[in-house]
Amino acid sequence: MKIDLTGRTALVTGASRGIGEAIALRLAGTGALVLCAARNIEQVERVAATITSSGGNARAVQLDITSEDVRDRIKSLIEQQPIDILVNNAGITDDDLFIRMKPEAWTSVLRTNLDSAFHITQEVVKKMIRARWGRVINISSIVGLSGNPGQVNYAASKAALIGFTKSLALEIGSRNVTVNAIAPGFIQTAMTDAMTDEARKSLKSRIALHRLGTPDDIAYSVAFLASEQAGYITGTVLNVSGGLYT
Ligand code: NAP
Repeated sequence: MKIDLTGRTALVTGASRGIGEAIALRLAGTGALVLCAARNIEQVERVAATITSSGGNARAVQLDITSEDVRDRIKSLIEQQPIDILVNNAGITDDDLFIRMKPEAWTSVLRTNLDSAFHITQEVVKKMIRARWGRVINISSIVGLSGNPGQVNYAASKAALIGFTKSLALEIGSRNVTVNAIAPGFIQTAMTDAMTDEARKSLKSRIALHRLGTPDDIAYSVAFLASEQAGYITGTVLNVSGGLYT
């Protein structure tokens, strides 16, 4: 099965590194024009340059998804270039045990991981609905399904993204816009680099496939859900955790 997204435009948030970078490269490899967005402009420019130097189409976009003007920024992006595929990928952690968690850690994680998806998606789907074609792919997490000690804020944001995904899928399915979530397990990126060797070893023993995932493991799933061939899939959560939680 060849995925061909030639003529489609994708916006990938958090495309400056890790999973978002892999998603941007993979979608560009299927022929899509990819708008690579994050706060660090040098890094998104690097990702966009990697894509264009291998013959793909990409643009770097400096975007803080928590900024007050995020809706206006998205509106002006869409005016220049309608978006067919939206990947809400940018996310943060700020872990602590519940009893010690500061309100700011709760607010910043919910604001980045959840509120931004509300604001950005609301602007983007308007055009998708009019065009009668669209794909929204939300990067949730396996801990949104399983829970995880030390991550009540993060797990709550990722569980909420799943409710958001399912509800929006029901609302706009009749307009041929699909909305799905991916629940990655533990993936080798900056987000998981802080883990001690001991924690990593114990984690691997709990994963059926006995390894952490790679950013590409997630990127392939995104490319599939974005494809024409996945047009009858909506409101689902694709578990890409190597069998960590089934
Ligand atoms: P990462 O390496 O820490 O990258 C996070 C990305 O989000 C960066 O590109 C960062 O770019 C961007 N970002 C953060 N805050 C932002 C903001 N306010 N505005 C715009 N961009 C922002 O994380 P990752 O591991 O690739 O994770 C990507 C997604 O997968 C996240 O939603 C994460 O929760 C989810 N996930 C990860 C794992 C894992 O094991 N790694 C597991 C499950 C789910 P800038 O700093 O340049 O803005």
